[in-house]
Amino acid sequence: MPMGVVIVTGASRGIGRACALRAAAAGYQVVVNYASNVEAATEVVSTIIAAGGRAVACRGDVSVEADIEHIFAAADRMGTLAGLVNNAGIVSRSGRVEDYTIERLQRLFAINVTGAILCAREAVRRMSTRRGGKGGAIVNVSSIASVLGSPNEYVDYAASKGAIDSFTVGLSKEVALEGIRVNAVRPGMITTDIHEASGDPGRVERIRPTIPMQRIGEPDEVAGAVLWLLSAEASYCTGSLLTISGGR
Ligand code: NAP
Repeated sequence: MPMGVVIVTGASRGIGRACALRAAAAGYQVVVNYASNVEAATEVVSTIIAAGGRAVACRGDVSVEADIEHIFAAADRMGTLAGLVNNAGIVSRSGRVEDYTIERLQRLFAINVTGAILCAREAVRRMSTRRGGKGGAIVNVSSIASVLGSPNEYVDYAASKGAIDSFTVGLSKEVALEGIRVNAVRPGMITTDIHEASGDPGRVERIRPTIPMQRIGEPDEVAGAVLWLLSAEASYCTGSLLTISGGR
């Protein structure tokens, strides 16, 4: 029986890449969305196809509504949408709130919050049984920053993930009777390129000792949880915020 299509936003690198590879291994057809790094996205698709899976790369900025429509149109061409991993996200340079500019805030919230909500809207339009869909699952990639607040680093990023947590809970209740489960993962410090954007090269090593497990997580350790939340194994799980942070 076909598993259906899963869209992973920001799937060319890091946590999204690991989710795309795991989704394909689980039998889903995968839309590998990326913003600009076509080489990385092509590598993910090639890896999936070489392993016998099905995937397409699809460029699109989740802060642009027309690009989101383009990403979902790519999924529609592949088959029936079964899931969305709302993973694309950015941080800004480390700094204090008193130094923020409106441009920084608008870009961050457009990608991390508005983009994720618009992607979820498109997924609900396709998956809701109320609209003739077959149901499905949405997994939002939040962050443990939503709980910790990230003072002196990126309080704005933490707040954007707080919005994702609230959105997850609210949407899960809204579509609970429509065959759609909505959950979030809250990763702690994970080995990806995202930390370079902070402009603070010592940050990861400074934080490591504060993690009870005293190590940085791997993208695949987040992807395993994401794929469980997408799967029928998580059939009674909705509105959950699953922390994956080494105990932080
Ligand atoms: P990453 O390694 O920096 O990768 C970011 C991915 O998102 C890339 O595929 C990038 O595409 C894509 N992307 C960036 N802006 C986009 C946009 N506007 N539209 C569509 N795609 C876009 O990031 P990551 O660390 O894997 O983070 C993934 C998610 O996990 C984010 O939501 C992040 O907040 C969350 N998270 C990460 C950590 C961590 O420690 N790494 C911890 C907690 C939460 P290109 O390759 O084309 O640039």
